[in-house]
Amino acid sequence: MAQNTEASSKALRFDGQTVVVTGAGGGLGKAYAIFFASRGANVVVNDLGGSFKGEGASSKAADVVVEEIKAAGGKAVANYDSVEDGDKIIDTAIKAFGRIDVLINNAGILRDISFKNMKDDDWDLIMKVHVRGAYKCARAAWPHFRKQKYGRVINTASAAGLFGSFGQTNYSAAKLAQVGFTETLAKEGLKYNILANVIAPIAASRMTQTVMPPDVLENLKPDWVVPLVAVLVHPSNTEETGSIFECGGGHIAKLRWERAKGALLRADDSYTPGALLSKWDGVNDFSEPSYPTGVANFMELLEEAQKLP
Ligand code: NAD
Repeated sequence: MAQNTEASSKALRFDGQTVVVTGAGGGLGKAYAIFFASRGANVVVNDLGGSFKGEGASSKAADVVVEEIKAAGGKAVANYDSVEDGDKIIDTAIKAFGRIDVLINNAGILRDISFKNMKDDDWDLIMKVHVRGAYKCARAAWPHFRKQKYGRVINTASAAGLFGSFGQTNYSAAKLAQVGFTETLAKEGLKYNILANVIAPIAASRMTQTVMPPDVLENLKPDWVVPLVAVLVHPSNTEETGSIFECGGGHIAKLRWERAKGALLRADDSYTPGALLSKWDGVNDFSEPSYPTGVANFMELLEEAQKLP
């Protein structure tokens, strides 16, 4: 990534670009929308306006943010569609501003419930909003990105997806899906200068206000997730793609896969469960880790296995 000096990083601007932010009626999405508008972008403020459990709909959430942006001299239009109708959201951008440069897939809901009590509806709705929603928006933006050979995508994962979280099997599955989705978008988009990254944010919002104490939430302002997103989607980022970042409260760090030393067994009749058990320590040995980035790394290991005496 191009290195910015302190002075120039403060000046990151998005004049003439169109940024679509889904779920921008509150929380993190609102913080993104207001920031990008303040830095010269045309912003599509999408929000269905329902409850955090995905019930109901209202145009108010998006309208309030658009009014705030306009009052500050910025450019924004509202869109009230569900992200499940991503094509309508991208259409709003094209009709209002003639282009789309940045897509921030941020909209989300929760249906927390223990796995024992999980109903199909709880599972399906979370998948629809998070997985299908991110897909539909990116799918509609993709032809525009390819044609103009420019596009920046942010997908939103969660610590729940990366590490698991009690009562959130549905949400965890949907959030880790964002990682695989992003990693493949990054690979397919590279040739067309389309970069895609995924963030696992932590911020005070209506989603977290009931599960975290006020003094913790005070240090988790949504505004403190914005700089990472701005850096990743700015034209000065020409390389950072397919990466996972955790961020919140002033902490930002990249996460990556780590592979243990592993066990190598000859793939013949001697490869039994007992033979594997005798090499189990290696399976768990992280003293000399490697950091795989694709299946090619695995194929190299297979070649090593072929060479075993
Ligand atoms: P939030 O509830 O304040 O914001 C989510 C917004 O998405 C809401 O305004 C909601 O109306 C909108 N939305 C919901 N369903 C929609 C749909 N179908 N179509 C369009 N808009 C829809 O919550 P937030 O904390 O700002 O969450 C933003 C994103 O960050 C979510 O994807 C969430 O899962 C993720 N996230 C948040 C945290 C956190 O600590 N706040 C942690 C991990 C991940």
